[in-house]
Amino acid sequence: METKQFKAESKRLLDLMINSIYTNKEIFLRELISNASDAIDKIYYQSLTDNNLNLFRDDLEIKLSVDKEKRTLVIEDNGCGMNKQELENNLGTIAQSGSLAFKKENEKKEDIDIIGQFGVGFYSAFMVAKKIEVESKKVGEDKAYIWISSGAEGYTIEETKKENVGTKITLYIKDNTEEENYDEFLEDYKIQEIVKKYSDYIRYPIKMEVTRKELKEGSKDEYEDKKEIETLNSMIPLWKKKKKDITQEEYNSFYIDKFADYEPPVKVIHSTIEGGINYSMLLYIPSHLPYDYYTKDYEKGLQLYSNGVLIMDKCPDLLPDYFGFVKGLVDSPDLSLNISREMLQHDRQLKTIAKNIEKKIKTELEKMLKDDRENYEKFFNTFGTQLKFGCYNDFGMNKENLKDLILFYSSTTKNLTTLKEYVTRMKEDQDKIYYACGETIDKIDMLPQVQGVKEKGYEILYLTENIDEFVLKVLMEYEKKTFTNVSSDNLDLESEEEKEALKKSNEENKAMFDFMKEEIKEVQQVRFTHKLKDHPVCLSSEGEISTEMEKVLNSMPNNQNVKAQMILEINENHPIAQKLKDLYLNDKEKLKKYSEILYNGARLIEGLTIENPTEFSNDICELISE
Ligand code: ADP
Repeated sequence: METKQFKAESKRLLDLMINSIYTNKEIFLRELISNASDAIDKIYYQSLTDNNLNLFRDDLEIKLSVDKEKRTLVIEDNGCGMNKQELENNLGTIAQSGSLAFKKENEKKEDIDIIGQFGVGFYSAFMVAKKIEVESKKVGEDKAYIWISSGAEGYTIEETKKENVGTKITLYIKDNTEEENYDEFLEDYKIQEIVKKYSDYIRYPIKMEVTRKELKEGSKDEYEDKKEIETLNSMIPLWKKKKKDITQEEYNSFYIDKFADYEPPVKVIHSTIEGGINYSMLLYIPSHLPYDYYTKDYEKGLQLYSNGVLIMDKCPDLLPDYFGFVKGLVDSPDLSLNISREMLQHDRQLKTIAKNIEKKIKTELEKMLKDDRENYEKFFNTFGTQLKFGCYNDFGMNKENLKDLILFYSSTTKNLTTLKEYVTRMKEDQDKIYYACGETIDKIDMLPQVQGVKEKGYEILYLTENIDEFVLKVLMEYEKKTFTNVSSDNLDLESEEEKEALKKSNEENKAMFDFMKEEIKEVQQVRFTHKLKDHPVCLSSEGEISTEMEKVLNSMPNNQNVKAQMILEINENHPIAQKLKDLYLNDKEKLKKYSEILYNGARLIEGLTIENPTEFSNDICELISE
């Protein structure tokens, strides 16, 4: 009989399993039971519409048995089964599940990590078994097949005899080694313990014949073995149990199993609501971005159950887009089992549930922000952008909901801060919330305007994400304090006398500024300023569009060639001011050239591109050579 080779990538994962030194090997049983449960789900759904399938819900089960002599552990289900092709496809090639896609991205990460990160499915059985047989008969087909593999050498598939539809997996447990005790996977108590730990919520009974020692009848000290079929799992869905009876490990394990993640979540939200509409929700906030989050493959949504029966795998209407990263489920006895997708969209109860879920997630995040700042910041670094988009999208419809959840870097705390915190730190005479934009914190910190405002003792929020300034524009104000870009032309930081003096000297030099503006047509105005401490020049923007927004808007696909209204400001207290005045009187040609240089320099400071870098460089060299 032909021995077939595993596909290359499957083989890699397989080798990993076979040689695994991963300590948590017991999770293999959860994986196999989870597959069995899925297979039973499939046949059960099919039976709901297929009258030829005479199936009794009560007969559906998963059976475990051990044989110490033969060193086998058997996992058997009466689910949908697999035919030859499916055995080949499903077990010969690793399924395109999240785990592998993840693996590709993180090639460098330690392999051992990946096993810990679960989702490795069927192959994990090779951590404990030296040989595996899978006998299966697919529902509606006559023939049964057996798939056999001892791992690395490949596998065989041939026809076999099997009475019932379903799948029977026989694991030939490895022999003990110096480091590893494999024998324990042949012990009743150990199997019971593992099932209880990871698979208690499985909706079908997991049965096993267990042996008990009991006193012989009529005897006081003689024992005999009693065999008994026992159901190992409570079958109560995790979310229907009382919170106090659920361990963190159970929550996490359920999440990892159900939602194909490889890391525990940062936050679990579990609550049961009784009243108008009855329902439970079990929600998870992942600890990292799902690998496909920014692809079109990512679908937001929660699983929807009607009294423990799954009616939809990803119900998008239960989550607003900005909480689209939340995973989990909702179970309500008040929802009809037969409700269609279309009807769901208009279902009033569902709308109410969705509103409550949104509120709940928000309150939980607020709590986390208040009580567990470190974790919140971790969360925010991962998903903060979503919240910001939530503020901005739909014309700011949800901004009130979200504005207290967003964080920005602060120039004074040198850390993330909320708007509320900023406001509490504001100086008495301060009526604006200052911010500055740039590519990185360091670059913002070097901006001339930033130095000027910091010098006056004001705190500045540093905005490094494209979306940031748009969010502030949509918010407009926080507790009546307007947001003000330190690069805007009306910072208004000077006293009345200072303003008067500046106004006067700007008027006196108007002819010079007009002359300079002729040379640099892109700016609205050239003028002196007092807001720059040591720096000679900066670009300010007038009106709604800042230079940062210009950059962002013009980098978008539907580039509308937006232009910020720019003002070239020159520090009147810098030697350059006098120099310009001299040139205006004595060497207008040179003033033209200097104006160019100043303007281009100011553009570079803002992170804008300049039209002719070569000319800019040549001009500077010419100056140096003088
Ligand atoms: P995953 O469960 O993540 O898809 P697995 O490697 O565990 O990956 O399983 C691969 C596929 O094999 C499953 O998707 C399923 O189609 C099939 N399969 C595994 N176990 C069974 C089973 N007991 N009954 C029917 N099909 C199964």
